[in-house]
Amino acid sequence: MDTIVIVGGGAGGLELATRLGDTLGKAGRARVLLVDRSPGHFWKPLLHTVASGKCDPQVTQIEFPAQAADHHFEFIQGEVMSIDRAARSIELAPRRVDGLELQPRRSIGYDKLVLALGSVTNFFGIPGAAAHVLTLDNVTEAEVFRKRFVNACIEAGERKQRGDCAAGAAQVNVVIVGGGATGVELAAELSHSARALAQYKVHALDPVKDVRISIIERGQYLLPHLHASLSERAASHLRSLGISVLTNTSVASVTPQAVIDSTGHEHRADLALWAAGVEAPALCAALGLPVNRMNQIAVDATLRAPADEHVYAFGDCASFICPDKGAVPPRAQVAHQQAVYLAKHMAKHLADAAKLAKAGSVAAMPKAGALAGFRYRDYGSLVSLGPLAAVGVLSGAVTGKSIHVGGAAARLLYGMMYQKHMLALHGMARMAVHTLVDWLRAKVLPPVKLH
Ligand SMILES: Cc1cc2nc3c(=O)[nH]c(=O)nc-3n(C[C@H](O)[C@H](O)[C@H](O)COP(=O)(O)OP(=O)(O)OC[C@H]3O[C@@H](n4cnc5c(N)ncnc54)[C@H](O)[C@@H]3O)c2cc1C
Repeated sequence: MDTIVIVGGGAGGLELATRLGDTLGKAGRARVLLVDRSPGHFWKPLLHTVASGKCDPQVTQIEFPAQAADHHFEFIQGEVMSIDRAARSIELAPRRVDGLELQPRRSIGYDKLVLALGSVTNFFGIPGAAAHVLTLDNVTEAEVFRKRFVNACIEAGERKQRGDCAAGAAQVNVVIVGGGATGVELAAELSHSARALAQYKVHALDPVKDVRISIIERGQYLLPHLHASLSERAASHLRSLGISVLTNTSVASVTPQAVIDSTGHEHRADLALWAAGVEAPALCAALGLPVNRMNQIAVDATLRAPADEHVYAFGDCASFICPDKGAVPPRAQVAHQQAVYLAKHMAKHLADAAKLAKAGSVAAMPKAGALAGFRYRDYGSLVSLGPLAAVGVLSGAVTGKSIHVGGAAARLLYGMMYQKHMLALHGMARMAVHTLVDWLRAKVLPPVKLH
């Protein structure tokens, strides 16, 4: 029986493990193994809600061992340090908790390796950025940001009450570098969180005058992937929340207290977050396979690395050039479509190998329909502007026509993207129960985490 090892249980990897487990694993046709450094899965597009305190990841995340038990795959927690392609094995770092070594360095062999490692923040070599800004690459980092934001508000509120602050100046300055979806969504949620925390008297600041949230974007518009009219709409919504939007502004360096732009202007930052771009993890560049300038592994139409028939890569860590659309973007929508494709492709690949073994030669094999290569379909993009608004574009993949959407209806559609992910992982009944529980929880609990 072939062993398929999937590294990375994110938006794409967990869906693939679930689909392969439900088919090949359940039928005993392959051993499906998922490896991730974390014990649970949190859907990355919602990380800004963890950073703003709207979402509690402990409650929302999916435990990998439970998903594995329900869907006929195995889960191993560990950080992949290196991959030996010649020996077809991956090596996991020792697992340590509170200084105690729970598990030593381990190797796991594979017949097929699927890399779904996601992406990490790209600082583009800007001096001081890596040392002084926070990032939103995972739940831990999002929690760090949330705690620093709440604590900064509490501490500044105390100072204000003592009269120990400059009159007329903002008391907490949050600077978000990058006006893409992550930056815009975080800014909007943070503004609502500052208000909610004030309402619960967690801090003594005026959430609009004392908490200054700024977005710095190098391009002419926020949300460069959307039409300029939608970008304008998003910018004016953010401004209505009191958020400062600075476009055509490039960051030159970062210090512990400020983000400095290319004109030399210092933007005071009690808290700075970098959301200006991503690249694939360094591990991808260490495999000896061709990668692009973002470290993404080049893959063919079957999502396989052309130089190694045993290695597949997809999602943010892979570079796939779609014949009609060019390079596919690092988005959850792509990771989902590729997971669906790979689940079919790998099942067919195994079935063909079994037929070949039975028939003895390719000529004697029964004819089967070939599976076409992967094609990306862009169904559009939605960006949340807080609990009640969103903007975006919906694309008809067949007709090719796009419609612009905004306001509360767009926000409702935005919420459905997560339901779709839950549907892929849990099926209809369980997804419906989760949705109901989330809705009830939102009705009875404060809208943000208060400490
Ligand atoms: C704040 C935010 C908002 C976003 N909003 C949207 C949106 O609205 N729409 C959209 O389409 N996309 C959005 N994205 C992008 C989207 O989240 C990614 O494109 C998507 O998650 C990529 O899926 P993936 O499976 O490739 O990787 P990920 O979901 O990032 O998963 C990677 C997994 O690999 C694991 N891993 C990494 N390295 C190792 C290792 N060495 N060993 C073991 N495990 C490892 C990680 O723990 C993680 O579980 C957003 C991203 C962010 C950060």
